[in-house]
Amino acid sequence: MTRRIAEVLKNGQPDESVKVQGWVRTKRELKEFAFVEVNDGSSLANLQVVLNPDLPDYAKVLKQLNTGASVEVEGVLVASPAKGQRIELKASAVTVYGEADPETYPLQKKRHSFEFLREIGHLRSRTNSFGAVFRVRNACATAIHKFFQERGFMWVHAPIITASDCEGAGEMFAVTNFDLNNVPRTEKQAIDYGKDFFGRPAYLTVSGQLEAEVMAMAFTNVYTFGPTFRAENSNTSRHLAEFWMVEPEMAFCDLSGDMNLAEEFLKYIFKYVLDNCAEDMEFFNQRIDNSVLATAENIINNEFARLTYTDAIALLEKADKKFEYPVSWGLDLQSEHERYLAEELFKKPVIVTDYPAKIKAFYMRLSDDEKTVRAMDILAPKIGEIIGGSQREERLDVLQRRIESMGINANDLWWYLDLRRFGTVPHAGFGLGFERLVQFMTGMGNIRDVIPFPRAPQSVEF
Ligand code: ATP
Ligand code: MN
Repeated sequence: MTRRIAEVLKNGQPDESVKVQGWVRTKRELKEFAFVEVNDGSSLANLQVVLNPDLPDYAKVLKQLNTGASVEVEGVLVASPAKGQRIELKASAVTVYGEADPETYPLQKKRHSFEFLREIGHLRSRTNSFGAVFRVRNACATAIHKFFQERGFMWVHAPIITASDCEGAGEMFAVTNFDLNNVPRTEKQAIDYGKDFFGRPAYLTVSGQLEAEVMAMAFTNVYTFGPTFRAENSNTSRHLAEFWMVEPEMAFCDLSGDMNLAEEFLKYIFKYVLDNCAEDMEFFNQRIDNSVLATAENIINNEFARLTYTDAIALLEKADKKFEYPVSWGLDLQSEHERYLAEELFKKPVIVTDYPAKIKAFYMRLSDDEKTVRAMDILAPKIGEIIGGSQREERLDVLQRRIESMGINANDLWWYLDLRRFGTVPHAGFGLGFERLVQFMTGMGNIRDVIPFPRAPQSVEF
């Protein structure tokens, strides 16, 4: 039976017969024999394979085993005399499935820049860095499901195509099957959406929250975990056009319950990844950002700072630091402000609450001061906003007033308003940008390097 290399490296014993499969990372030919390092994506470490000249077709096989070639090796494990590895595999049979021409295979042993590797998105996962990133990404996803399932939350699947702009930011991709060279028009020359596939304008979702609220009003505690889309033309290292979001929603819950869950949630994920991806995390700490392990420990072991937006503004105004965007009450916090609070002032994650109603979405619960809403953002060192959440407006009349004052079409949201007509309850939830989490976890500087197939302005190749 074929075994995964991670498992062999961990449990394999001398004299055991094993068969492994993978891709050649390096080859070293000595006079008497040769070494080939094989990796199958299961771990950062490679399995060292020793090839002796008594192997059938030794010379031919050796010529084929260049970096990138796919291979199956059968043999016996032996204790390794080399430093840093416990065992190696003495090959008795080698099958080369596919060669990789060393003249043209783009991934050679030297270090490549992340920019270059983005241009070969179909091959970059075979590097140490991307192997580690995507294993950690997988562990984060596993931890998220485990966390919610252990607490009785139901995973609900929000639609990808929607008619409502949840965030009201207008950064939506249209979904249509019109022939764009021949779009049906009404008599007044307006686009006749009645003739489009859905009979009205439709978009890719920017958030599953409204649908999560629907489901929470039946199942109490739910979460979505799926792709979302934003046509924001922002070429930053923190924005993608397609990214994954996790959105828990809890009925019978207020803002403090929401904050408690969010904090417990982040701590749980970090602990899970440290426990299950120790080798990869060590790699990030050594090669990418020498603060990621300390940051993870910081998150797991410290209580997050909590303060209101109003207090945060006061601290920023007092800051001995010049900001590009000056602060004053009522303005949205920019990334530089968020990072100052989390990185320099508190040196740990910070939960900022009670933002001005004017800068937040219509569904957030209005406070008695009528100026602020029960919103909370979690700001993380190096990343800025990682989680955004709120208690939702459960009072029909207040919600209707908010929708009207923000110029949103209430007719589109009739079903959302119905939730406030029939069995409404206080409820709250938050959204976690999944790639921001993986960035934060790994220290990777660019969000395009923590998703297998990044979509960004002018970029959709792979
Ligand atoms: P930002 O100010 O960073 O653009 P936002 O206020 O637009 O964020 P929300 O609408 O609150 O973000 O979305 C919830 C979460 O989704 C954010 O906290 C963030 O982690 C993530 N997120 C938002 N936009 C993007 C994007 N374009 N690419 C990746 N993640 C994103
Ligand atoms: Mn945004």
